Amino acid sequence: MLTTEVENFPGFPEGIMGPDLMQNFRKQAERFGTRIETRDVTKVDLSSHPFRVWVDDQEYETKSVIVATGATAKMLGLPSEQALIGKGVSTCATCDGAFFREQEICLVGGGDSALEEAIFLTRFASKVTLIHRRDELRASKVMQDKAKSNPKIHWQWNSVVDEVLGETVVEGVRVKDVKNGETTNIPCTGLFIAIGHTPNTKMFEGQLELEDNGYLKTYEGSKTSKEGVFACGDVQDFTYRQAITAAGSGCMAALDCERWLEHKGL
Ligand code: NAP
Repeated sequence: MLTTEVENFPGFPEGIMGPDLMQNFRKQAERFGTRIETRDVTKVDLSSHPFRVWVDDQEYETKSVIVATGATAKMLGLPSEQALIGKGVSTCATCDGAFFREQEICLVGGGDSALEEAIFLTRFASKVTLIHRRDELRASKVMQDKAKSNPKIHWQWNSVVDEVLGETVVEGVRVKDVKNGETTNIPCTGLFIAIGHTPNTKMFEGQLELEDNGYLKTYEGSKTSKEGVFACGDVQDFTYRQAITAAGSGCMAALDCERWLEHKGL
C-alpha cells in the first residue's frame, strides 16, 4: 500500500500501482468467499485451542491462525522525511530504483541491505551517495569490497540526514557531520532509507518462537512453533522480502493450514 508503481510483480508487463494491486488481490479473494475485516487485531491467545483473537473488545474463536503481519521499515523519524514518502523518499530500492534513471540519489545505512541497495541503484542512477553515521560499515567484507570498487558510489562518512529538502518532491538532503556538527546540502532527487526493518511480532512474543533477530520462526514451510498457527510473508522472511515471494509464501501457508485442518478433522 505504501509503494507507488510496482514493476516486479509478474503478470503486469506495464507495471501496476501498489494500491491497485492490493485492490485486485482483495477482489480476487472476495470472489472466492473471503470475508475481509479491515481492523487492527489487538491481542491473541494461542495457549489453548480453539485460539482466541481480539479486535478491541470483540473476541473471535478460531481453529487456526495465519500470521501475515509483515515488517515495518525503520525510518529516520524526520517530519520532512514523512512528508516526502513516495515523492522521492523510499524504503525499497528494488521497487523504486528504476524511477531514478540518470539521476543523483542518496541512501542512508551501513549494513548489508544498504550496500546491496546502493549497488543495485547504480544500475539506474548516475550517482549514489551513501550516508553513514560512522566511518566503519556494518556490512560484510565481501559486500564492502563490491561497493567500494563501484565508481558510481560516493561516501559521506560520519554523517546523519538532518533534513530532507524539497516542498513537493525531494530536491536534496541536509547532512550533519556527527563529529563537528557542520552541515552540508547534497542535491538529489531520491532518498533511500536502508537502516533495517522491524518485524511486526510484538503481539506474539512469549507465544510463538522467534529468531534471534525478532522474526517469526517457521518450520517445514509455514508452520510456527505452535501447532495450528502458520506464518507467511515478511514477518518470517528476512532474506527475500518481495511482494511476489510474500504472495507465494501466503499460498504455502493457506495450503499448510487447509491440510492441517483436514488432517485434524476440524
Ligand atoms: P543492519 O545490519 O541492522 O544495518 C542497519 C544499518 O543502518 C547499520 O549500518 C546502522 O548503523 C544503520 N542505522 C540504523 N539505525 C539508523 C539511524 N536511525 N540512522 C542512521 N543509520 C542507522 O540491517 P540490514 O542491513 O537491513 O541487515 C539486516 C540483516 O540482513 C543483517 O544480518 C544482514 O547481514 C542481512 N542481509 C544480508 C544480505 C546479503 O547477505 N546479501 C543482504 C541484506 C541483508 P550502525 O552500523 O552505526 O549501527
